[in-house]
Amino acid sequence: MLSGLMMDYPLTLNAIVEHAKRMSPRKTIRTKLPDGNWHEYSYAAFHRRVRRLGNALAALGVEPGDRVATFAWNNYQHLEFYFGIPCAGAVVHTLNIRLSHEQLKYIIDHAEDKVIFVEGSLLPLIEPIANQLKTVKRFVLFNLAEGQECNLPNISYYEDLMAAADDDYEWRCADENMALGLCYTSGTTGMPKGVLYSHRSMMLHTLGVLAAAALGPTEMDVVLPVVPQFHAMAWGLPYACAWVGSTIVMPGPHLQPAPLADMIESERVTIAAGVPTIWNGLYHELRRNPRDISSITQLVVGGSAMPRGLIEAYERDFGVNVAHAWGMTEMSPIGSVAKLQTRHQDLDAGDCWDIKAKQGYFVPGVDARIVDDAGNELPWDGETMGELQVRGYWVAGGYYKIERDQEHFTDDGWFRTGDVVTIDAQGYMTITDRTKDLVKSGGEWISSVDLENALISHPDVLEAAVIAVPDERWGERPLAVLVPLNGEHDSQALNAYLLERFPKFWLPDEYVVVDEIPKTGVGKMDKKALRQRYADGEL
Ligand code: AMP
Repeated sequence: MLSGLMMDYPLTLNAIVEHAKRMSPRKTIRTKLPDGNWHEYSYAAFHRRVRRLGNALAALGVEPGDRVATFAWNNYQHLEFYFGIPCAGAVVHTLNIRLSHEQLKYIIDHAEDKVIFVEGSLLPLIEPIANQLKTVKRFVLFNLAEGQECNLPNISYYEDLMAAADDDYEWRCADENMALGLCYTSGTTGMPKGVLYSHRSMMLHTLGVLAAAALGPTEMDVVLPVVPQFHAMAWGLPYACAWVGSTIVMPGPHLQPAPLADMIESERVTIAAGVPTIWNGLYHELRRNPRDISSITQLVVGGSAMPRGLIEAYERDFGVNVAHAWGMTEMSPIGSVAKLQTRHQDLDAGDCWDIKAKQGYFVPGVDARIVDDAGNELPWDGETMGELQVRGYWVAGGYYKIERDQEHFTDDGWFRTGDVVTIDAQGYMTITDRTKDLVKSGGEWISSVDLENALISHPDVLEAAVIAVPDERWGERPLAVLVPLNGEHDSQALNAYLLERFPKFWLPDEYVVVDEIPKTGVGKMDKKALRQRYADGEL
């Protein structure tokens, strides 16, 4: 090797907290608390609290490598966990509050979480399983309502732990290949799978998010992550914003259209990020009850396809620029963004909206290809459809504690996204379908296979297929196609049966009866044919 190379400086998260304290000590993080009041503090105060948290974790017996979970809305405490847990060498495991008890229990046991930080308003969602969790030694509570009772065992209070902790702390994350975070995502079958981020992958992802070609927040931005911190690391915004010192506005549990509209207006938000369902709700709210949202320079939307009509409506009615992005939990999550480029400068508005409705170009750091069923690479001609495969600095190399399999990873080092896409000659990708048998409703997954298995275990059902159908509000909703055993079924009874196993939002919106479910050549249910029949108005 040649001498005189650059430093081997570790890509570890403590660099962000230190940089924020030095460069933006007076910039602020604002949180709308559950009671509607605002909490505000500076990055300097944040830095102090993150170090305190390191000591508080040590006092709880948390060691490097331990998994420490969070069960919380977006707020300053959750931001402290995002930094304090990994900077103490432990792994921040963000639990999705929308999962069923069965899934939550599975995930917590599978991750072997030692401690869980729980927000007061979410206690009822976790209390019923608390005594069944195998590895959890302590629940740490915060944001409790006045006089709120708690039925969890082994509890501590976050503010008591912090009050007893010292400000002096030595970061315990010297190695960039240490695990930083863990986030579970739904699989087509079976229980969710864990994606384990390293300090290195997350630091590189953060630099990727900061690129102007991606989301590119700067110190001048006021950023509102509506996307939950329990979903795909809030798209990396907490880390990116802290690094450059953007003002962060955390919405807490106030995710309804009216408070979001108020927040954007009062805080002069410049970048807001969320799933299409959120922006659809906000649009209708603003039509009913106008607010000034002209401060927004980028309305970032991802997680599901943003309808072209809504992109157009935001720009036409409110002059708000929409940045449509695609990503996956397995990609930390940023993969592509549909911003305009030089060659689009002379296009008229309609053509620009067409481009913005695509999932976009791959951001620097993400490499992509499309392949056919036999694994042959397909051309980027905007017409040929194939499965999208990706690789890069922040793409999963496996799932946590699961053997690397060919369903998700290729032998030559690519991750199979399960999205079926075209890519045009300019490198803009459009999602046309997906191979994974899932429904995405309001940004959250519903497993069609799990619903089908439950339905066919019901005595009235002979065959069942669940397909995703387009829905204006939720993006997609599940529709159940049934062959009843005796020609009849009772939708209410089926719903009650499913509710014993799944969250309410999983219930099919409709049950449709057919004589027979179409099958493919190898005898599998032909859902493509069912979706086509639905699109043709035949179901
Ligand atoms: P998740 O890991 O839950 O974020 O889900 C990732 C998946 O969501 C992707 O593989 C896509 O199927 C879907 N997805 C994410 N962003 C978009 C988008 N902008 N348009 C369409 N589908 C999307």
